[in-house]
Amino acid sequence: MARIFAFPDRDEPRRVTEGAYVSLNLYNTLTRRKEAFEPLDPKNVRMYVCGPTVYDYAHIGNARPIIVFDVLFRLLRHVYGADHVTYARNITDVDDKINARAAERYPDMDPLSAIAKLTGETTAQFHEDIAALGVLPPSVEPRATDHIEEMKALCEALVKRGHAYVAQDHVLFDVPSMKDYGRLSNRSLEEMEAGARVDVAPYKRDPMDFVLWKPSKAGEPAWASPCGIAAPGRPGWHLECSAMSEKHLGKVFDIHGGGIDLVFPHHENEVAQSRCAHGTPVMAQVWMHNGFLQVEGEKMSKSLGNFITIHELLATDKFGGQPWHGRVVRFAMLGTHYRQPIDWTVERLAQARSTLCELADMLADVEPAAAPNEDVINALSDDLNTPSAISIVHGLAKSARRGNAEVAAELKASLRFLGVLGDETRADLSVGQSAPEVDAGKVEALIAARLAARKAKDFKEADRIRDELAGMGVALKDAKDAKTGEIVTTWEVKS
Ligand SMILES: [Zn+2]
Repeated sequence: MARIFAFPDRDEPRRVTEGAYVSLNLYNTLTRRKEAFEPLDPKNVRMYVCGPTVYDYAHIGNARPIIVFDVLFRLLRHVYGADHVTYARNITDVDDKINARAAERYPDMDPLSAIAKLTGETTAQFHEDIAALGVLPPSVEPRATDHIEEMKALCEALVKRGHAYVAQDHVLFDVPSMKDYGRLSNRSLEEMEAGARVDVAPYKRDPMDFVLWKPSKAGEPAWASPCGIAAPGRPGWHLECSAMSEKHLGKVFDIHGGGIDLVFPHHENEVAQSRCAHGTPVMAQVWMHNGFLQVEGEKMSKSLGNFITIHELLATDKFGGQPWHGRVVRFAMLGTHYRQPIDWTVERLAQARSTLCELADMLADVEPAAAPNEDVINALSDDLNTPSAISIVHGLAKSARRGNAEVAAELKASLRFLGVLGDETRADLSVGQSAPEVDAGKVEALIAARLAARKAKDFKEADRIRDELAGMGVALKDAKDAKTGEIVTTWEVKS
């Protein structure tokens, strides 16, 4: 049975193996149901995900959408072909938080150089962090400051079409001008206005109107303004994603993703900007949102002291008294379905590590198959059901442990596909632990096999087992039991 499939022409159904069709189903926030995914153009499946604002280390909650949509990116590439998917994940490099942090961190530099230094360093750190989590680079990683002209053009188009207005050097989106504003987040305008009527800026016609462009203060990044405004200014946050998605993916594209906290107002406002500027019925066909992350049962916050960055998790002992390998972090993250809230605990990480270590031991000498297991793909095709994919992985491991070499090869390919295990060994995965974690049951079984080999005078096999144990970091000590005269082997983990 052919495991590698030819990427089909448009008219042909997609297939993984002869006779088996991949049908991809995704939950759509816009329609509030799971739907069969039909790309606008199977030759160019387009996905946009809101990326980080680069002013500080990304926290572990930020890692969730990055990992989740990386799995979806891998799945789309598998189904439609690696050359037929465009994934854009942006970098927000103009923002009030960036300005404030740059001034605080580099008070002696001129503001623009300080901002450039801060965003450059933070972006490099972000790339380093997520590479350790096994995340593939997106097809394109646009930066807001490289798309100022596109943002200005959107302001002009929105004013021209009667969906935005200029007031006190601001360009504002006229929310009541859009009849179905609130559709994505499922809120009525009355409801939203009631919540917004606190401290409304005097230049807004309606409390819900939001900023597309605003004047810059001295020392802040500033560009020539659109719409006849003389004062130099800068874009509001929501505008950049409308501009960058249009430039890299088109006016209407397939999938837009992000954390559930972005549905309102950020994504609602992206939709408003894009649809009203282009006169399109939707911005993206499918909207996907990952659930919240909490830490040890509590909301993560700096004031609670449980705020944890990806860097701290990977490189310090802040969480659980030890650093954790990036693959372990990724595996732990995928143990919960992306739409569910996830509770980030030390126990979750320890379990993930123990599972990955066992798999790494078992698959050390296995050549991966050319393609991942079909059931794993099918589980992911059901709205990215990673817990189900992982339970299939456990089943495959059981079969591989019984000696099924073909399944072992497929298992290894599946783990690579999920990005949870590459060539790492138990020792790699146990980074920062005083001694590598070993599976005591497995050690005892190998010792028993070695003693049996010795009794049968198969010293070659006995030595091979001793070497295998040494490779796991286990040292053996043989001694004769004084009473029985039998050889008794004790073992310890080498530090
Ligand atoms: Zn966005």
